[in-house]
Amino acid sequence: MQEQSLLNIDKNHIWHPYSRINSDAPMFAVERADGVEITLKNGKRLIDGMSSWWAALHGYNHPKLNQAAKDQLEKMSHIMFGGFTHDPAGELAQRLVRLLPAGLDKIFFADSGSVAVEVAMKMAVQYQQAKGESQRYKFATIRSGYHGDTWHAMSVCDPITGMHSLFAKGLPVQYFLPQPKTTFDGQWQEADIQPLKDLLAEKSGEIAALILEPIVQGAGGMYFYSPTYLEKARALCDEYGVLLIFDEIATGFGRTGKLFATEYTNIKPDIICLGKALTGGYLTLSATVTTAHIAETICNGEAKCFMHGPTFMGNPLACAIASASIDLLLESDWQGKVNAIEQQLKTELAAAKNFQSVKEVRVLGAIGVLEMKAPVDLAVLQPKFVEKGIWLRPFGHLVYIMPPFIISSAQLSQLTQGLLAVLKEVYNE
Ligand SMILES: *Cc1c(COP(=O)(O)O)cnc(C)c1O
Repeated sequence: MQEQSLLNIDKNHIWHPYSRINSDAPMFAVERADGVEITLKNGKRLIDGMSSWWAALHGYNHPKLNQAAKDQLEKMSHIMFGGFTHDPAGELAQRLVRLLPAGLDKIFFADSGSVAVEVAMKMAVQYQQAKGESQRYKFATIRSGYHGDTWHAMSVCDPITGMHSLFAKGLPVQYFLPQPKTTFDGQWQEADIQPLKDLLAEKSGEIAALILEPIVQGAGGMYFYSPTYLEKARALCDEYGVLLIFDEIATGFGRTGKLFATEYTNIKPDIICLGKALTGGYLTLSATVTTAHIAETICNGEAKCFMHGPTFMGNPLACAIASASIDLLLESDWQGKVNAIEQQLKTELAAAKNFQSVKEVRVLGAIGVLEMKAPVDLAVLQPKFVEKGIWLRPFGHLVYIMPPFIISSAQLSQLTQGLLAVLKEVYNE
């Protein structure tokens, strides 16, 4: 298709994430992507700084992931998961059980991150019901979180930054706690945990679970907070019979410098949600994983089963690619790569600390964040990034770099230097 006709059809007929039909926002027609390079239809090449939203760990068009897809495609692309099982699901389950903290070994495969969160919330409610605690159906969380776009996932997103305030009247009311002030490597402040203590002392009888993105809050604010908060929250949840759900959809598979952000703590959640990088950015797939105790309690409850089962559950194509992606990750020196990316981001983004427009520079693992003092104008910034040959997509006050782990140090420098140059130009730094 000609570039212009594609752009016309797109503008007239197709919705994009959080967008309008007939939008005048800049739109770029992409032809292909290889490794860390994205090629536009007009021939322009961009270095990818987004990993397609935390997902494309190994870059694009990877021969091993392509081969895994082709091999599985020759056998079956999909088969219903009711009454059938298959090698791709078994092999992926085996890998996840091996990688996840011990005891998390009962897996529900679903089709997207938001659904994984819905599944986790339903598990928590069914578990409480099975224990005779049917009045526990609410959830607690901290502000500035993001857990997805479906109805109950929305209800635990930050009510303001979570992009869902329009729906507030229709959403169930959940309990929002302040975001912990102690940063990832900051000196722990005991006052951070007090609101959760107070809430559970008063309302735990209504609360099924506490849901958190461990260590890194993603789309709700790109904020890194203290592992101690999670450890204290674990103890309180145990004391009050509240389940602890970790949403590792963004943080899973090495992004923060650990395979799972949970590993920064000495505790584990009752339920963990995985998605995004699970298939190395190839296909949509998610997993909600819990313990034998919770799974058995649910299955001994009134329904005698867990009440969820999407059409594309355990999709073989996605599962086969996910196993290949995990193998690729574990065979690589991913930890060395992520550490090197972290060091380089820290060094090269440091200059932005002196910019008038920048409030804070934060780096953890392969995540580099500039929090701006004012919301950015995407329509101004994005075309300038593209001009410089880099692909970044800021939102709100946040401009961030989250490259595929395979990025070379020269390519990463292109990203950081391009970003700084655009900010200098736009904000007269
Ligand atoms: C992206 C994300 C989700 C939602 O995943 P989708 O696949 O977009 O539905 C949920 N939780 C977190 C932490 C995420 O980053």
